[in-house]
Amino acid sequence: MLNIVLFGPPGAGKGTQAESLKKHYGLVHISTGDVFRGLDPESDLAKLAKSYADNGNLVPDDITIKILESEVLKHPDAKGVIYDGFPRTIAQAEALDQFLANKGTAVTAMVGIDVPEEELKGRLKNRAIDSGRPDDADPKIIQNRIAVYNDQTAPVAGFYKNQNKYAAVNGVGSISDIFDRLCAAIDEVNVSL
Ligand code: AMP
Repeated sequence: MLNIVLFGPPGAGKGTQAESLKKHYGLVHISTGDVFRGLDPESDLAKLAKSYADNGNLVPDDITIKILESEVLKHPDAKGVIYDGFPRTIAQAEALDQFLANKGTAVTAMVGIDVPEEELKGRLKNRAIDSGRPDDADPKIIQNRIAVYNDQTAPVAGFYKNQNKYAAVNGVGSISDIFDRLCAAIDEVNVSL
């Protein structure tokens, strides 16, 4: 089973690239952010997730890990999964390793998309016009999301580096150029498996 973790700060283009990678490799695309946004808005879980997401904070690990695992279990016949926006903490990465080990599989690779901070802020501001996401629209919340990323999420790259499973690509350029770089990185890991 191919298990690709797509990694990068908010605004790096993970969602767009994950959709293309899903088609190219025939994978299931799981975005925890999309799952949270897709919950019944009247449910307690949706209200709880929104109270964190709207301020640019992470939803607590125990809730997020359960949500992720139940999404993966919805696709028992998947030939692989592309994880978009998960894991975002070391605790989530450890939980994913354990969960996949129990299924007799493992993370194949984490592929990071590198984008400088100033470019991220501009992209998120533009995305807010179409996305309608409150967490894209407010510069203070964007700043908080980037701070949370630097604090809690960036260390997850080290977790996979220690397992020799981390590769990063330059995330500045056209969508199709970045897609080609991601495929090259994934193919390299896949070939050397
Ligand atoms: P995203 O669509 O990936 O930008 O996620 C939007 C929001 O959903 C984040 O700012 C978090 O509040 C929440 N979220 C998504 N994925 C996770 C995760 N793996 N851990 C904790 N919170 C998450």
